[in-house]
Amino acid sequence: MAETKGRYTTGLHELGDGCFAYLQPDGGWGWSNAGLVVGDGAALLVDTLFDLRLTQRMLEAMSPVTTTAPIATLVNTHANGDHCYGNSLVEQAEIIATSKAAHEMTEVPPALLAGLMKADGDVGELFRSFFGDFEFDGIDVRLPTRTFDGRLDIEVGGRVVELIEVGPAHTAGDALAYVPDSRTIFTGDILFIGGTPIVWAGPLSNWVAACDLMLGLDVDTVVPGHGPVTDKSGVAEVRDYLAFVDEAASARQAAGIDAWEAARDIAREIGANPEFQSWGEAGRIAVNVDTVYRSHDPAHVSANVVEQFRRMAELEA
Ligand SMILES: [Zn+2]
Repeated sequence: MAETKGRYTTGLHELGDGCFAYLQPDGGWGWSNAGLVVGDGAALLVDTLFDLRLTQRMLEAMSPVTTTAPIATLVNTHANGDHCYGNSLVEQAEIIATSKAAHEMTEVPPALLAGLMKADGDVGELFRSFFGDFEFDGIDVRLPTRTFDGRLDIEVGGRVVELIEVGPAHTAGDALAYVPDSRTIFTGDILFIGGTPIVWAGPLSNWVAACDLMLGLDVDTVVPGHGPVTDKSGVAEVRDYLAFVDEAASARQAAGIDAWEAARDIAREIGANPEFQSWGEAGRIAVNVDTVYRSHDPAHVSANVVEQFRRMAELEA
């Protein structure tokens, strides 16, 4: 089993069989993980980090390995900035993402976040409370140079990494990176461990199906997009949460209850549920309930992004 089990410290962790996880506790907003798969003379990087300083620090930590096995391929698991804003520092690598993720990457450029962080009044204050640890100025995101839909097998120094598209779920174009010869999977934000999953895109049923797919793979070591390294038990917990939220929100929508009222109500239930009550970022239920409502009713009008962050902050206050 992975040596990171029960240990969760910042930096590069060797998982065995030429696989590494770069972890950033505590896994909250923007504190994402990345992965490295090392073959003979070449390596594959799974995701960059939220800003250039953090990504540079990670690449330096990887350099004892990547000096002899340079990063030939970078996979972005999805379009969120905490998984791709450092792309420009991985020079010369081919960058691969699903075509939906590649498209979505153009929609939230770092300059937009940089602007929100500097906004006057309570909007700036709100976004700084979520993302104040990161530096979004001066980032020019290198976009994917190769896209795929469905599945794609990548050869890296004589071994195979299987890319599996499972979105839309967390975002429009989520993918997993599975390394069969080491029974390891890098899940991107299809898994949050110790924190609450946030379903920006949905439907939740797609994400539950992604969990079922992972549970069916020959896998011992599971590296989430946020949180400590886990195994299939971590996948099952996320599946339980999503199934619970889908059912709880669907029932309230059928009863004609407003989405925000439903979210506050379900938040109270989660706070009393021993399986989920210790998870961070519990306020994400506001977005998750909204996504359930939208998936059943395309005419449902979601709260705008500022209001969504206000609601999440309020639920966690
Ligand atoms: Zn993330």
